[in-house]
Amino acid sequence: MKQLPVDFLGFTEIGGVGEMIYTAVRFPAYVAEYDEQGDHVMIPLFSGMIPPKAGNDYSLTGQELLVSLCNLYQQINNPGSTVVISEAIREWCTDNILPYNNDVVCEMVECDPAAHIKYGHIITRDASFYIDEFVKDLCSLGMTFELYYALHKAFSENDVRFVRELYYEGRICDSFAFLEKYRQYESDEECLKQLKADRVERMTQLIDLFPDFRMRLKMNRRSKKIEYGADVSSVFDICWYAFARMVADIAPPADLSIDDEFSQGSILSCMACGRYFLRKSSRQRYCQSWECQAERNRKNRRASYARHKND
Ligand SMILES: [Zn+2]
Repeated sequence: MKQLPVDFLGFTEIGGVGEMIYTAVRFPAYVAEYDEQGDHVMIPLFSGMIPPKAGNDYSLTGQELLVSLCNLYQQINNPGSTVVISEAIREWCTDNILPYNNDVVCEMVECDPAAHIKYGHIITRDASFYIDEFVKDLCSLGMTFELYYALHKAFSENDVRFVRELYYEGRICDSFAFLEKYRQYESDEECLKQLKADRVERMTQLIDLFPDFRMRLKMNRRSKKIEYGADVSSVFDICWYAFARMVADIAPPADLSIDDEFSQGSILSCMACGRYFLRKSSRQRYCQSWECQAERNRKNRRASYARHKND
């Protein structure tokens, strides 16, 4: 039997996550309702005049979707949070894309310019989803990302703050119980020492939280080419792929400067508000929100004043 010249078939060897075949649908609005079984369901709204939009020209990347979903998770799971969960999810879907069944709905919407009028009820049925399922998927992704971020900060920057703060009782789900032990240390140094001793165990726990990925041959509907691609049935799949890619790309921590480690396109937590953002330049430490940019400018002015005072 012919042997492959590599002993490990990774994403890159197999075809790359970047070549994933996926398209997106966006609905003008959604409404949350209880169905006959008493389940809370999110239903897309559209009309003959305001149809859903389908296509793959959206500029949303897997990383951007990951950032926005992790921020949504923090927003609704924060112990002090009072946001209405279905309302926050409704807003997310309107601002981003349909979270489930994207491929099927997209194909239907694209098959005929009047599809939304002719097959309106089928589109509505296939694009509706259970809010509980969304929350469950969001919690798995959000908790895992939070853990990854905290471990990454500790192992690459010796910053244990995030690990120490990560043991908490959330509004919907609690953090991982094994993090409790890192709260007992008086000093960050002791905590870091223990964490480094546990490195393999912690990283193994982290990667075990990832779902299995299914890849198979698919026909690209546009190019009619056969491609090896990942199955994507929800926006969470897209995020898990993007996330897996980041975790697999982790370089050895010892000899990298912070700027190498957090290169452009990596995800950081904002120094002012704590929300995640996608870094666009190597110096960026704050998210793009108006308040945080103002905070950054205030800090810069203060630092500049302090420097010149001693001149
Ligand atoms: Zn911010």
